[in-house]
Parts: sequence; structure tokens; C-alpha cells
Amino acid sequence: MITLSTSLRRAAKATFAKILEHTGARPRLSQWSHVSEDGVRVLIVSYHRIVADFATDAPTGLSTLMTSRDTFRRQVRQLCNAFEVVSLDTALEVLAGRRRAARDLAVITFDDGYRDNFQHAYPVLREAAVPAHVFLPTDYIGTERALPHDRLYRALQILNRDRGDWRDLGLDASAVTALAEVQGLNANRQIDRLLAKHPTPRVVRITEQLERRFGLLPIEGVPDGARPLSWDQCREMQAHGVDFGGHTAGHTVLVHESPDAVVREIGRCSDAIAEHLGSAPRHFAYPNGYHHPAIVKALRAAHFISAVTTEDRPNRPGAGSFRLGRKVLWEDFSLGAGGRYSDALTACHFDDVFGTLALNRPVSGLGGMSPSD
Ligand SMILES: [Zn+2]
Repeated sequence: MITLSTSLRRAAKATFAKILEHTGARPRLSQWSHVSEDGVRVLIVSYHRIVADFATDAPTGLSTLMTSRDTFRRQVRQLCNAFEVVSLDTALEVLAGRRRAARDLAVITFDDGYRDNFQHAYPVLREAAVPAHVFLPTDYIGTERALPHDRLYRALQILNRDRGDWRDLGLDASAVTALAEVQGLNANRQIDRLLAKHPTPRVVRITEQLERRFGLLPIEGVPDGARPLSWDQCREMQAHGVDFGGHTAGHTVLVHESPDAVVREIGRCSDAIAEHLGSAPRHFAYPNGYHHPAIVKALRAAHFISAVTTEDRPNRPGAGSFRLGRKVLWEDFSLGAGGRYSDALTACHFDDVFGTLALNRPVSGLGGMSPSD
């Protein structure tokens, strides 16, 4: 739901973006950030779902993971105009100083392997002839099972709506304690907090208890586009410039797992991609962005060469390839006053103007807790 403060913030940022554009300040700020990044700029953007129509699809699930096909097409066009859109492999070569780039570079990535990536993103990527990366939680690919956060969101929506006497629902003690700690937050914040604090299997068990209480089937009401890709769809995309990376087997937030479980999650994911797509994945995305050095060690041992976070900061040469910064996008990101697509606002985000002016604070994924915890 769009609140008054959201529309005010949106209008303020859009007006600011227009002023920067018309006065020529944005290109100057962009140049300044280039100087501070040794002249090489690598922007990695992250999407989740690409939906047919945002207004229709937003009420059906986690809207902060959704970008409409039209907005996605415009963003890709803007990326192609301002950057050379390349694969992660090329970006890593440039960041390592082994290759020179004539222009700024951008990399397009998708997390979670949603079916609508094939339905709505893939045609746009083909039309623009740009490479992209999709990070797969492999236990879900080729199934009709909804991802843990989507099931949790649906259950929390019901719980929050009937917030009166939920302690009498007969949930076990650990579920009651975990839910009490996030009471009063919106479902998005509740999911972030629960997954930041508890092992993913425990969060799944809490979800299953809620589903049983509310009489929900795990896939009931989940739109087709929010279900996982099939391996055939992956192979079709792979034949046309889409690379598939790892995102664990069970969409498991790794920072809460034992060293053995981390190795198993990464190994199972890598083996499934090798089996179905012909070669082992080389790039990885940390579920919910959380990581620590032992996870990096396990990834290196499994022959991964890079990993992306959800930390919104520029990628600088020599910074290492297992903590790459990414800008996480969704529909709201490009909408200016009146909810219309704003080229100026989008350009400001892509140029990291709000980060340069310290209006955005990057959130670290190191260790697994958000700054507010
Ligand atoms: Zn994910």
C-alpha cells in the first residue's frame, strides 16, 4: 500500500532529481563519484519478480519484490544508454584490472528463480540483447512449491489482520516468542526480522503452523508467475545469454547454519545446476544478503568465483569478488510524482547520486543482522 509519507518522499526525490538534471548537477556528481572510484564504475542491479501489471499483481504478494514489465523495459533501456551491460565475468575482469572498460559497466541480476522472469523479463532481455544472471534456490526449481518468504508473507497477512487473539492459535512456544518479537511491524519488516534472527528451517516450521491454523495449502492462491522456473525454461534462457548462479538449495539464510550445513546447502545447489544445466555455477547470491567469512571459504571450495550481496554501494577495483554491492530494485524505485515513471529519478539512482550525497545508507549483510537489530 502506498502511504502519504511514501508519496511525499517519492515526490521530493523526483523533484530533487529533476533539479539536478536541469542544472547539470547530476552529471557532475556522477563524474565526482567516478574520480573517487578510480574511473571505473560497475553497477550491479538486482530484481526479483517481473510482473505483467504492478497495480493488479501488487496485492497478490510481496510487492517490494515486484517490478512491472513496462518499468523493467524502460530501466533496461536507460541502463543500455548510460552503461555497457555486461556479464558478471566481464565485470570481474575489469574490477580485477585484467581488462579495460571503455564505458561504465552494469550487470543485471535476478534472485529466486521466479517463473515470471521467463514470462516477462526474458523477452525484454532478448529484445535488448543483453546478458543477465539468475540465482536459483535449486530445491524449488522445477516444482510448484512457493518460496518460504512468499508463504510466510501470506500467513502473516492473515495473522496481522486478525491480530486480536493470535496467542490462542495453539502455536508452539518458540513460534509464539518469535512472533511476539515482531508484533506491530508490517509483514515486510516481520519477514526481514524473522529471517535475520532465526534459522530458515525454524521460520519454515512457524509458517507451516500458521498455514495449518489458517487452513492454507502451501501453493493455494500463489499466482503462476510467483512459482519457480522449470529446468526447461532455464535451459531456454541459458541458450540466449542468461547465466544461472547459486542461491542455496532451500533459500536458506546461511549465517545461522552450522559449517557442515553451509557446505551441504552450497554443494547441493551447485550439483543440481550442474546436473540440469550442464555446468556448475560460478556466481552466488547470499539469501537475504547475509554472509560471513566462513561462507566465503565454503563458496571458494565449491569453485564459485564471486558472490553478490544486497549492500547498496559502488563496486571498486580491487575490493574482492565475494562481497559485491548490488542495488536492489522494485517498481517504486522509478516512480516520481503522480506515480509516473521518472527518467530523471531513475538516472539519479543508477548514478548513485543519493548514495554520493549520503541520502541513502548502505546496509551491511556481514554477520546477518540488520543495523536496527
Ligand atoms: Zn532470495
